[in-house]
Amino acid sequence: MSVLVFVEGLNGEVKKSSLEAASYGSQVAQQLGTTTTAIAIGDVQEAALAKLGEQGVSKVLYDGDSRLNQFIADAYVKVIAKAVQQENAKVLVFSNSNIGAAVGAKLAVRLNGSLATNVTALPTIDGGSFVVTRGVFSGKAFADVALTSDLKIVAIKKNSIDITSGGGSATVENFSADLADADFAVSPKETVMQDTNGGVLLPEAAIVVSGGRGLKGPENWHLVEDLAKELGAATACSKPVSDMDWRPHHEHVGQTGITVSPNLYIAIGISGAIQHLAGVNSSKVIVVINKDPEAPFFKAADYGIVGDAFEIVPKIIEAAKALDK
Ligand SMILES: Cc1cc2nc3c(=O)[nH]c(=O)nc-3n(C[C@H](O)[C@H](O)[C@H](O)COP(=O)(O)OP(=O)(O)OC[C@H]3O[C@@H](n4cnc5c(N)ncnc54)[C@H](O)[C@@H]3O)c2cc1C
Repeated sequence: MSVLVFVEGLNGEVKKSSLEAASYGSQVAQQLGTTTTAIAIGDVQEAALAKLGEQGVSKVLYDGDSRLNQFIADAYVKVIAKAVQQENAKVLVFSNSNIGAAVGAKLAVRLNGSLATNVTALPTIDGGSFVVTRGVFSGKAFADVALTSDLKIVAIKKNSIDITSGGGSATVENFSADLADADFAVSPKETVMQDTNGGVLLPEAAIVVSGGRGLKGPENWHLVEDLAKELGAATACSKPVSDMDWRPHHEHVGQTGITVSPNLYIAIGISGAIQHLAGVNSSKVIVVINKDPEAPFFKAADYGIVGDAFEIVPKIIEAAKALDK
């Protein structure tokens, strides 16, 4: 019996969200008195996988089939299902990424498991009972959910679990699910990677600087970009901003865009409509800069600055630069 963690790679490295999933899995394994195994697929280096030992993973199964470098749900499901069976895993941990959410649901059906997505805390395990806390209603509330099947599948909300360190090195073993061409019957023709603008992926970012229509036009976006650069943050925007092509669509957050849950979300010139809040209100700390003291965003903010973004943001950038020195 072991805890199995699905690990996603990007450009040869393990994604930050998978390090969080590995840290979660190892702490669950400790509670259950068992070990943690990881299953990794696609574009990730062996050295990066071995470093998962830092997070308490003792063994990594690696399927390096290059056809898996692109996400193909049915093929991923087959590989992970075989790993679950081989390791006799009773707990399967994902990051709550697009891949984790899609594959987790399919695996729950295929392996008759109980699935909880958007999980924000370690489980309470008492005898046979396994209860997790998950965010619901776009992060406005939490629900405690008992997973009752033999196999418990949890998808961890990004930035909700600290990455642990201090373990050793994991062994890396080749693994194959003997995939056939039929497993790749539906496959993407081309995958276009988001421009990470300095290396920070928006869904993974610990800090996000976001701009709205209050910034008046794309020519003023240097304010958002410069502040993001100083803070090591990803950039984001409201929907109208991407609709008007001021910014690319992959930066649009909210109900119809990306959901983010960073440690710090800075909203500049964004009113805080409910559809925008739906994608950001589980951020740990929200800072709002808006010249209208009645802007709805202030109700959701931890800190608010009432004033003109064109005066305030340059001062914050200068202050951040001074801190760097
Ligand atoms: C079905 C549906 C889905 C939607 N999905 C989304 C979504 O996913 N994400 C999303 O963002 N929106 C979404 N919307 C749109 C949403 O309702 C709002 O219209 C939108 O979020 C407003 O964007 P904004 O705050 O940038 O612009 P505005 O509402 O125009 O607000 C601009 C703000 O900037 C402030 N401001 C102006 N000048 C300055 C200045 N100089 N300094 C400081 N502040 C200033 C103003 O006081 C104002 O509060 C959706 C709408 C619908 C109907």
